[in-house]
Amino acid sequence: MRQKAAASTRIKLSEIFTSIEGEGILFGTKTMFVRMAGCPLKCHWCDTPYALPLDSGSDYSIDSAKELISKNLHVNTYKVNFTGGEPLVQHEALIELAKFVRGKGLRTYLESACYDATRFAKVLGYIDLVKIEFKLRDSKVVDEKHYGSLLRNELDCLKLAISSGKTTYIKVVVTNSSSLKEFKELVREVFSFTKPAEIAGFIIQPSYKIDEPPLDVLFGFYDAVYPLYDQVRIVPQLHKIIGVR
Ligand code: SF4
Repeated sequence: MRQKAAASTRIKLSEIFTSIEGEGILFGTKTMFVRMAGCPLKCHWCDTPYALPLDSGSDYSIDSAKELISKNLHVNTYKVNFTGGEPLVQHEALIELAKFVRGKGLRTYLESACYDATRFAKVLGYIDLVKIEFKLRDSKVVDEKHYGSLLRNELDCLKLAISSGKTTYIKVVVTNSSSLKEFKELVREVFSFTKPAEIAGFIIQPSYKIDEPPLDVLFGFYDAVYPLYDQVRIVPQLHKIIGVR
């Protein structure tokens, strides 16, 4: 009989804090953020560069990380956002913390760049709310040689999330340099297998203070989605506008 893989006992955490959800369909809600260290990607507009090195953050036992979560939890917080960095880098530790959070009666929310559909499939059972982020080429997330593979993983993660019945939404960051043609191809691909009722939102997020897209450019992206999904929204990062973490 095959032995079950041992649960992860350590985790590298960049920070844990409670703030206002500033992105996506749940913006404006009080949220605990568990920022996990490490990300193998390299978006040029990344707003958490301090969390990118795989050896950044502080090392905790899973039990100490659970204590930190309990200590930092505010009243009237209904969800914990696992973010990064890229949470899938430490997917086993993520599972342990997600189980703990659910045990406290809270919902778990995963913000991932979806670079690895195999790891995503392993954690999905422990997650209640899923953001699937698609990176356009101008993000420089990976070099051109690896872009096709990243896109396939992102699409596979979306398929997995939808078929699991989890609350799932899509986010795409756009800049003034993003290609509308590329965006349209992505939208076509997404809605070739996604029914509008199967997702909880499609968020177009304008870049902030880096190559910001003007209104007419944003309308171009919006208009590319609307005929296929009329609940599309352009939503900037609220926490940056109001100056909180
Ligand atoms: S995937 Fe996220 S954490 Fe990683 S480089 Fe891009 S924006 Fe930063």
